[in-house]
Amino acid sequence: MKAILVRAFGGPEVLALEDVPDPTPGPGQVVVAVKAVGVNPVEAYVRAGTYPALPQRPYCPGSDAAGVVESVGRGVTGVRAGDRVYLYGAVTGAYAQKALCASSRAFTLPASLSFEQGAALGVPYGTAHRALFLRGRAKKGETVLIHGASGGVGVAAVQLALAAGLTVLGTGGGGAGAAFVASLGARAFDHRAPGYRDAIAAATENKGPDLILEMLANVNLPADLGLAATRGRIIIIGSRGPVEIDARAAMMKDLDVLGMSMRNADEEDVVSLHAALAAGLKSGALKPVIARSFPLAEAARAHEAVMSPGARGKIVLIP
Ligand code: NAP
Repeated sequence: MKAILVRAFGGPEVLALEDVPDPTPGPGQVVVAVKAVGVNPVEAYVRAGTYPALPQRPYCPGSDAAGVVESVGRGVTGVRAGDRVYLYGAVTGAYAQKALCASSRAFTLPASLSFEQGAALGVPYGTAHRALFLRGRAKKGETVLIHGASGGVGVAAVQLALAAGLTVLGTGGGGAGAAFVASLGARAFDHRAPGYRDAIAAATENKGPDLILEMLANVNLPADLGLAATRGRIIIIGSRGPVEIDARAAMMKDLDVLGMSMRNADEEDVVSLHAALAAGLKSGALKPVIARSFPLAEAARAHEAVMSPGARGKIVLIP
C-alpha cells in the first residue's frame, strides 16, 4: 500500500509517499481501508522535531481516519468487516491507504456523516469534549469563550457547548473567520481586531466568561486572566511558546488555570468520551465542517495549510 513516511524531522517536504507492506490485524485489532485522514497541528510539530515527545524514524504520521473495516483480528466482537468506522489512534499511522488500530479505537460512523467528516472526529471532538466537560466542568446556563473557534477543535467545541445549553462566544481570525464562527451558531468576534476583548467583556455584561477554552495560550493567557469571570476556569488546549503572566490576576479572582492534553486521556476516558459523542452525531448536533481536502500525496501542502491562519474547520487527506 501507499503511505506517507517521515525518515528525518524537518519541513513539510520530508513527508514522502512510499510503498510499504499492508498491515495485518493481531488479536483485538482491526485493519481499516482508509477513505479520509484528519490532519492535526500536532503532526506538524512532531514532523518538525519540535514536540516534547517524538517517535523513532521512519514513521507514518497521523492518528485520525475514517473508512471501512477490511479485516479483524482474533477476539474482535464489536466491529465487523464492511463496517463504516472512524478511528482515533491508528497504531501504524493514519496517513496511509490502510490503518491498523485497536478495535476499541474504531467507532461507528453514522451513515449521515461522510468519511471526510468522520476523519475530523478523533482528536478534535475528543479534545473539545474532554476540555469542556472533564477538565472545564461546563454546565448548562454558563458562558464559554472558545478562543480559536474556527479550527478543528474550535468547531467541535462550539457544537458541543451549544448542544449542552451553554451560551457560546467564539473567535475567528478576520471578518471572514468571525463570520464562519457566527455561522456555527456562536456569538462571534474577530481575534485580529483591536479591542475585541472589550467587546467580549461587554457581551457578558462585564462579568466575563465562566469558562475559556484557549487555543493559543502563549498569545492570550495574560489577557484571559483579566477577561475570565471570578471563579472562572481557563483550559489551555494549545500553546506555541512560553508566556509571562501576572499570577496575582489569577489569585484575585480564584481562577482555575488548567492544562489539557489528550495524551493524558486513558483508555477508559477515550471509550467513554466517544460513547458520549455518539448521541450528538446521531441527532445531527455534531457535524464536522471540512475546510479543505488534499490528495494523500500532497500531505506537505496539508501541513502548510494547517499551520497557516484562516482556519475554517478541518483539513483532510484523501488516500
Ligand atoms: P486548527 O484547526 O489549525 O485551528 C487553529 C485555531 O487557532 C484557529 O481557530 C485559529 O483561528 C486560532 N487562532 C489563531 N490565532 C489566534 C489567536 N490570536 N487567538 C485565538 N485563536 C487563534 O487547529 P486545531 O486542531 O483546532 O487545534 C487548536 C490548537 O489546539 C492547536 O495549537 C493544537 O496543537 C492544539 N491541540 C491540542 C490538543 C491537546 O490535547 N491539548 C489536541 C488538539 C489540538 P484563525 O485561523 O481563524 O485565525
